[in-house]
Amino acid sequence: MSSIFSKIVKGEIPSYKVAETEDFFAFLDINPLAQGHTLVIPKKEVDYVFDLDEETYTGLWTFAKKVGKAVESVVPCKRIGITVIGLEVPHTHIHIIPINSIYDMDFKRDKLKFSAQEFHSVANKISKAYNKL
Ligand code: 5GP
Repeated sequence: MSSIFSKIVKGEIPSYKVAETEDFFAFLDINPLAQGHTLVIPKKEVDYVFDLDEETYTGLWTFAKKVGKAVESVVPCKRIGITVIGLEVPHTHIHIIPINSIYDMDFKRDKLKFSAQEFHSVANKISKAYNKL
């Protein structure tokens, strides 16, 4: 069975897309810790990041760097925090989170709520910034 993220890549489940290449996809986290909290995934469905083949693994991090720079240019923050957890969705993903302090990376915190319009607007801005890099 396809993972929820594979369904997002195929457009079977809606998402706020930020960027896409032949092998990778980036979209806003639906329960964000910060505005612009983005998930970066390989289209190839592999649960655990260390089980990715070498080319996909390095390609994923290169893609994440570009997406992270785009997020950073749109959302005011001290820097981008990145983390891989993967306990909820069994499809490798890197969290890209604009942060101002260590507490902004605390996944136990209440998640932020944004309207569809707000999600859409920030995704568009990040997407435009990504396309200029
Ligand atoms: P993890 O597997 O790293 O613990 O967390 C999975 C992340 O995926 C969570 O931050 C959660 O909010 C996000 N997530 C789960 N389901 C969906 C979904 O259907 N759409 C989007 N955009 N994000 C999701």
